[in-house]
Amino acid sequence: MAIQLPPAEPTLVAAAAELEPSAAAARHADLAAQIDRANELYYGSDAPEITDAQYDVLFRELVALETAFPELTTPDSPTQRVGGAPTGTFDEVRHTRPMLSLGNAFSHEDLRAFDARVRKGLGLPPPPDPPPDLRYVAELKIDGLAISLRYDRGRFVQGATRGDGTTGEDVTANLRTIEVVPARLAEPAAIEARGEVFMPKAEFKRINEERAEAGLALYANPRNSGAGSLRQLDPAMTASRKLSAWFYQLVEDGDLVGTQSAALERLRSLGFPVNHERKSDLDIDGVIDFTERWREARHALPYETDGVVVKVDRYDHQARLGMVSRAPRWAIAFKFPPEQVEALLEDIVPYVGRTGTLTPVAHLSPTKVAGSTVARATLHNLDEVRRKDIRIGDWVVLQKAGDVIPEVVRPILDRRTGQEREFAMPTTCPVCGTTVVQDEGAVRIYCPNGDCPARLAQEFGHFVGRGGMDIEGAGWAVLSQLLERGMVHSRADFFRLSVEQLESLERFAQKSAENLHARIARARVGRPLARVLNGLGMPQVGEQTAIDLSAWLAGRVRPDAYPPADGDLVPDPWFAAIETELRRIGTEEPDTFTEVPGIGPTVAAALGRWFNDDATRDVLRELVDVGLVPERPIPRSVGEGSAGPLNGKTLVVTGTLEGFSRPEADEAIRAAGGKPAASVSKKTDYLVAGERAGSKVAKAEALGVPIVDEAAFVRLLGGLG
Ligand code: NAD
Repeated sequence: MAIQLPPAEPTLVAAAAELEPSAAAARHADLAAQIDRANELYYGSDAPEITDAQYDVLFRELVALETAFPELTTPDSPTQRVGGAPTGTFDEVRHTRPMLSLGNAFSHEDLRAFDARVRKGLGLPPPPDPPPDLRYVAELKIDGLAISLRYDRGRFVQGATRGDGTTGEDVTANLRTIEVVPARLAEPAAIEARGEVFMPKAEFKRINEERAEAGLALYANPRNSGAGSLRQLDPAMTASRKLSAWFYQLVEDGDLVGTQSAALERLRSLGFPVNHERKSDLDIDGVIDFTERWREARHALPYETDGVVVKVDRYDHQARLGMVSRAPRWAIAFKFPPEQVEALLEDIVPYVGRTGTLTPVAHLSPTKVAGSTVARATLHNLDEVRRKDIRIGDWVVLQKAGDVIPEVVRPILDRRTGQEREFAMPTTCPVCGTTVVQDEGAVRIYCPNGDCPARLAQEFGHFVGRGGMDIEGAGWAVLSQLLERGMVHSRADFFRLSVEQLESLERFAQKSAENLHARIARARVGRPLARVLNGLGMPQVGEQTAIDLSAWLAGRVRPDAYPPADGDLVPDPWFAAIETELRRIGTEEPDTFTEVPGIGPTVAAALGRWFNDDATRDVLRELVDVGLVPERPIPRSVGEGSAGPLNGKTLVVTGTLEGFSRPEADEAIRAAGGKPAASVSKKTDYLVAGERAGSKVAKAEALGVPIVDEAAFVRLLGGLG
């Protein structure tokens, strides 16, 4: 059952007007205090305690009260302010023009009321008459962090957050780590470009999974995760999170364009990423159609959008309409209703994760929410279950956090029957029976048994999986049998399995056993070192950092100083040296790991401890002894750049390639020492154009950047270009 939509503005104002003035003042003070607190948590610490929809309900009631009792609108009311003040963590930047908030619309009725206000402001005929020349642009409202970037003679010089609208925080160094943010523009323009930095849904999911495993507090949604990642003191930390950005506002002296739609085009041709999902030349019916079209479709987008921003297209119209205290009169943000549904929580079951953490998971009656059917939702930890007072047998409100992760919002107390049961964490591991541990002062409860089959199954699954040794056919069914039958106790054991052992597994015959055996043997030789390391499950290190780490290691332990290994069952001397070096760094100088792009001091310390751990040493030593021969990466020394054929070159890939997916093409460029980039600029050395290449080709032509096809790209990778 869907939750009710909020009432329209006039209803709220009428309800507020019924109040006694003293009651209105008291309610106003109460709401303002709640909103101030929410603002502080949301803007100051990127860690809200209420949902955006709950916040919007409070805010709308405040607006309604101030409409009914204008004397309540004091200059310090939340309705008169934008965002949050800079926290003092970063240098301050004063904006050349204020960065505003937007008025909100929650229904078609609100949108039509906006249209009527705009027409009135411009002295145009009221609806239903068609207004001459009044046109709107509709853009998706990106749920991220507003930023403003200054370019001088085409070079990126300074970037800031919105802050309180007048003064923001200087996050230039962090913005430079975002791949899609152009360092140089297609022309030497002096402009300011404004947009939204955001975290793609997939990255949000990855980071929260990592944080859950590490027992850290989770980000509520990609917006907070993205904002938290951008406002890091250590740019390397920002770089390790894959942030992206869309730009939607151009600030330029002696405006070269006269409309918002032309500004978007100009931003694009200057080299900024501009969201394609936009529509111009609309009347208000067209705007409403646009909001309807995206209401459901937005769930399939790889980034989060919480609404549609509607803007009056012509700048001269915008200038005539002007602004109110915190928002322009010529634009409005239509907010999609949050998709919340009710579901029956049938059970709460503790799951054991890769590092042993016990996570309570809600088993729900299968329920459709935000585009998919959900039957499981993590409840994160026991504290969370208690804080929300969620009980087995409850009807609960369910939503998707950041449109991705199913989340139990709260129990529906009215639907309680008295039959519900409180959940208690088991005192022993539900899988291996070992007594569980909770460290002093920590929230995390875990199974300390390193050999717990649940832990091993996940660790080993990760090792043989796509991000690791990539052994096809070693899926869950095979893994669990191997563990149950005691055939595999360590990662190295996979390489010791015989055809006979494999044949004894359920649903295996001689042929299938031989095939799997051959695939395991092939994986033993020539898998990239980065995958081997990634497959070990290094703490807080993702796939890209594993690639950078292995290239960096090869710069210290140079492969050419060791004889080649062919995979006969002798240890590979180079891999053995890598193992020794990792342990040495872990013991003696873990700080050195910060030389690897994407590794900051905290991760370096965690890695140091991990490589210094006896258990890690045993795992690596055993892999060396069993004759694992990783592919040797191209070395990359600090400050030296890599020695590959594309050393120091920047390449942009556009269109579809036959032999490479986009991540594979990027990986190939990196492996050859080059840098993959998302947009074409003067700094681009080559544009690789595949099938159905788009506008980047024209841009490369305009800038004189060489354009190569896939065949030429392959030659370049091989150093033959
Ligand atoms: P807003 O989010 O309603 O809209 C204004 C912002 O939209 C702009 O500043 C800009 O950053 C962004 N935007 C995204 N795409 C855009 C586009 N294409 N064109 C123009 N702008 C675009 O207003 P706000 O002042 O940024 O924040 C208020 C909102 O923040 C609330 O409505 C609520 O959703 C959220 N909030 C939540 C909490 C909480 O505790 N949960 C607290 C404070 C604020």
